[in-house]
Amino acid sequence: MNEPLILVVEDEPQMRRFLRASLTGHGFRLVEAGTVKEGEVAAATHNPELILLDLGLPDGDGIDLVRRLREWAKMPILVLSARGREADKVEALDAGADDYLTKPFGMQELLARIRVARRHAQGAGAPSDPVVHLGALTIDHGRRVVSKNGVELHLTPIEYRLLSYLAQHAGRVLTHRQILQEVWGPPYAGQTHYLRVYMAQLRRKVEDDPARPRLLWTEPGVGYRLKLPDDLPPA
Ligand code: CA
Repeated sequence: MNEPLILVVEDEPQMRRFLRASLTGHGFRLVEAGTVKEGEVAAATHNPELILLDLGLPDGDGIDLVRRLREWAKMPILVLSARGREADKVEALDAGADDYLTKPFGMQELLARIRVARRHAQGAGAPSDPVVHLGALTIDHGRRVVSKNGVELHLTPIEYRLLSYLAQHAGRVLTHRQILQEVWGPPYAGQTHYLRVYMAQLRRKVEDDPARPRLLWTEPGVGYRLKLPDDLPPA
C-alpha cells in the first residue's frame, strides 16, 4: 500500500480507462470520481498525493473544485483540458491548479508532468541549495549571479528576478498574471507586454538560439514554463 495515490476526477469513460491503465501500470493507485461533488468527497476522504482534474464535469466546473480544494488542500492539481480553451487553463492555474495537460496527451507526457508535480510537492519546505544548476546555466542565489558554461551573465534586476522565479518553479507553467504579480508587483498583473519584452531580453542572454528556446518555453495564451533537461519528453 505504499504506491502513491492519485485521484482522477473525469467523466469520460474512455479517458478514465486510459488513465487507469497508464497509471496503475506505472505503480500508482487510483481513486476515481465522475463529478465535482464526488471529487470533493473523494479528496477529503482519501487525501490523495495528487489530483488529475477534468474541467468539464456533468454537475459543474472543475475550476470551482480547484477553488474549494485550495481552501484546505495543498496536494498538486493537474488539470486535463481540451485544446483551445486557454482562458479555462489560465483561470484554473490562477485558482491554484499546478499544471495542465491538453487532451489528447500521451502517457510519457502525463508521467513527466506527474514527476514534476510530485518533486515540487516533496521539495516544498525542504532546505534548498542557494546554487541551482539548469543544464549549462547556474544561478547562485546567495551572490545573485547567473552564469552560463562558467561565464557570468549580466542580467538586470528584473531579468534576474524573472529567471529566478521561473527557476524556483522549474517544470511548472506559470501564468502571465502570476509572473507579473511576483516579479513586478500586484499593480502590474495585467501588463503582459512588460513580460513579453523582458522575456525576449532574457532569452537573448540565456538561450543558445533565442528563436528556438530550450529552457524558457512559451505556453501559448497561458504563460511560460522553465523546462529542465530531464523534463523534456524523449526525442
Ligand atoms: Ca468532461
